[in-house]
Amino acid sequence: MEDIIALLPDHVANQIAAGEVVQRPASVVKELLENAIDAKATKIQLIIADAGKQLIQVVDNGIGMSATDARLAYERHATSKIKASDDLFALHTKGFRGEALASIAAVAQVEMHTRRSADELATKIKIAGGEVKTQELLVAPVGTSIAVSNLFFNVPARRNFLKSNTVELRHIIDEFHRVAIAHPDLSFSLVQNGTELFDLPVGNLRQRLVHIFGSKIDDKLVPVEETTTVSGIQGYILKPEAAKRTRGMQFFFVNDRFVKNSFLHHAIMTAYEGLLIDGAYPGYFLFFSLEPHTIDINIHPTKTEVKFENEQSLYAILRSAVKHSLGLFQIAPTLDFDRDPNLDVPYQQKDASTKAPKIEVDRNFNPFSSGNSTQAFSSKASAQWESLYQEIGSTESAAAPLQLLSDDATSVESQKGQKVFQLMNRYVVSATGAALLLIDQERAHQRVLYELFLSNITHSSSTSQQLLFPIELELSAQQQAHFSTFAPLLKEVGFSLGDQEGKNIRLLGIPSVCSENKALRVFEELFESLASEVPKDTFSQTDLLAKSLAKTLSIKRGSELHTEEQLQLINDLFACKETQLSPFNRQIFVSLNKEELEKKFN
Ligand code: ADP
Ligand code: MG
Repeated sequence: MEDIIALLPDHVANQIAAGEVVQRPASVVKELLENAIDAKATKIQLIIADAGKQLIQVVDNGIGMSATDARLAYERHATSKIKASDDLFALHTKGFRGEALASIAAVAQVEMHTRRSADELATKIKIAGGEVKTQELLVAPVGTSIAVSNLFFNVPARRNFLKSNTVELRHIIDEFHRVAIAHPDLSFSLVQNGTELFDLPVGNLRQRLVHIFGSKIDDKLVPVEETTTVSGIQGYILKPEAAKRTRGMQFFFVNDRFVKNSFLHHAIMTAYEGLLIDGAYPGYFLFFSLEPHTIDINIHPTKTEVKFENEQSLYAILRSAVKHSLGLFQIAPTLDFDRDPNLDVPYQQKDASTKAPKIEVDRNFNPFSSGNSTQAFSSKASAQWESLYQEIGSTESAAAPLQLLSDDATSVESQKGQKVFQLMNRYVVSATGAALLLIDQERAHQRVLYELFLSNITHSSSTSQQLLFPIELELSAQQQAHFSTFAPLLKEVGFSLGDQEGKNIRLLGIPSVCSENKALRVFEELFESLASEVPKDTFSQTDLLAKSLAKTLSIKRGSELHTEEQLQLINDLFACKETQLSPFNRQIFVSLNKEELEKKFN
């Protein structure tokens, strides 16, 4: 039998390789822009015709190539950037695989002009389908211009696979943004079909972002800066109110190279926890500087995926850096379970307003003690709730405030201008900016109380009121067992308990947010939830108790609320760590923004 294995001819091998590197016009854009940067260009022009299907041209003022190099550049594995495998772990260039130009030339018609400053004349090379057609000298400026025409002209299947011009142009612009954001110290321009889409002068990162995304972005940017032994992180995140339901403003760079990494994206999402409406993505432009040997870029031909040696620590560093910035710039609710709550409670807020449901007189209340109530708990953060939920409204335009509620007799305007009223004794309705909010009062209050009790237990900071006439409780044998487990936690949230005498307990005092007539119900509810399962660890016990108390003590559907109580509820809710879901995972509010309203009147 004959041997049957043969080596593929170069142009076939290149065409196969092109399948990995060149997926669409945007891939060519990326490779050409990166080559220009590697060639130390300071001015880079991108010229596109027909969303790149007809022409993709990059003109740079970089170092250029000699006549020999110009030809070699189109050979596979021809690169000036690495020489040995060790170099792979000390990369300071974008490229290193030496296959981009070979791949591109295999599936398109390429014309390149290139000149080094030492040479008098430039080299002009024409290649089509991987074959050099002509090579000659010409007069041209220093630098390189590479024009790629009729992409996939010789691979009809791939050409037919291309999407509409709108889609392909979108991909091109995305790649252009990624490179341009990574290099604000270089000037870039993008012209499509003779129209200039971007002209980006040299500047700093903030200026670059403003030039790309418009001046509206300027006051949404929050700086991030963190240096550790593992990594430096710097850049900007966007305020939560600028979060969008569509992806697109997420930019990670590792050593100035754009990378995709869902793990690190997740770190950012958790840092924003409780600040975003459902399904919204926070924007970020973050730069990691890492030792080149701690990353592996060579895991994918397009080099947009990276393997990190210290992925776990990067996750933690990133998360805390973002949290830190959100907190520093007072965007996050100031509630933090790890912090001493007394430090940020202005004294006059402690007895600021009446609380729903009715609060009994607190005989033990001492303004100089460290105790706090729900008002105090949310005091500082409440100033920010408005901006927190403004994100629900259109952030695109300074849309006119809703006129919907302005003439309603029952609506009230607070000092800050938000209007509230109650609907069906069940929903608190509020409007600010361009959003209308319907809040389920019961679920909202459950959330507020739940977080309050958690905080009380963590900080031992509850206030309680002594009962004039102690309440007697009679417990079953099983309840007695549960009771002894929960007694320490019950004390933390403000219950004052007499000594247990057999099956009898005396309740001497109750939390100040609990009314006397609800005290018994608290215990019934607690024992009910323990009937099915008793959690073992302290964390779950705390969680169960906080939920149980929140359920019993929350404002119920059907209760009428004064305006002050409505406002208080909204303020307290938006001071919570989580604002979307009740402790029982039910949606707390629905919102209607301008677009959604307009749709309804279509
Ligand atoms: P890589 O970038 O991985 O080295 P490419 O196929 O993209 O591989 O490019 C091959 C070589 O051609 C590069 O290593 C570089 O020496 C040269 N080259 C490509 N583009 C340019 C350019 N715009 N200016 C100068 N040299 C270039
Ligand atoms: Mg390259």
